[in-house]
Amino acid sequence: MTKDTIIQFHNVRFCYDEVCAINNVNFNILENSLTAIIGPNGGGKSTIFKILSGLLKPDDGHFSLRKGSTIGYVSQFTDFDLSFPITVLEMVLSGTICKKVKPFYRYKKSHRDKARNAIKRVGLEMYEDRGINQLSGGELKRAVIARALASDANIIVLDEPDSSLDVEAAADLYRILINLKSDKTILIASHHLDEVIDIADSVLYVKSTVTKFSSTEEVKEKLGGGIII
Ligand code: ADP
Ligand code: MG
Repeated sequence: MTKDTIIQFHNVRFCYDEVCAINNVNFNILENSLTAIIGPNGGGKSTIFKILSGLLKPDDGHFSLRKGSTIGYVSQFTDFDLSFPITVLEMVLSGTICKKVKPFYRYKKSHRDKARNAIKRVGLEMYEDRGINQLSGGELKRAVIARALASDANIIVLDEPDSSLDVEAAADLYRILINLKSDKTILIASHHLDEVIDIADSVLYVKSTVTKFSSTEEVKEKLGGGIII
């Protein structure tokens, strides 16, 4: 692993029973970069994210993270129970401790400071005390990202966070991600090609294997050359 590399996949394969979702996957990711993960439905994007987050184990090959790195995983589907009366601050606070929150757990001041700081970074400080069920889709996504930030993860993995957002909410989200790059490594899977390619430092095209593009010009050239998403 070179000095600037924070994630490395080497010949990784993962199969769900007989369906091999990814095969022979090799790539590396540089620290504090923003990587767009693109490719068709079923190409294996979510599988790669689940391997990175430790939810799945490669059948073959291996991947490594820079020592001391931790991953904040924002899954494709919001797995919060929106009928549960919890505020933005409470939800983000729950990201500051790794164990499951016991009822009446008392957070320390350092936890609250961390949560408030994360909420500020996603621009939700006005909504700290609002119920998460009273947020728009874009605000809820930002709250989930704040929760990942509050965990102190240095790598943030976002699986199609823009899939159900209108153009304006998605643009807000991209602006926030660009700002996070000062101290976080970000991977974002998305079907909004033009938008994510514009903000990305590099692009991974995932369709069973992974092709890495280092410039947006190269992606546009190749996409124009018949790679269909
Ligand atoms: P993407 O996120 O790019 O749409 P996925 O990683 O979700 O792709 O899926 C890759 C392949 O693995 C697809 O063929 C999909 O049908 C299959 N797959 C995903 N999850 C499961 C699962 N839990 N069980 C069986 N097959 C799965
Ligand atoms: Mg997916």
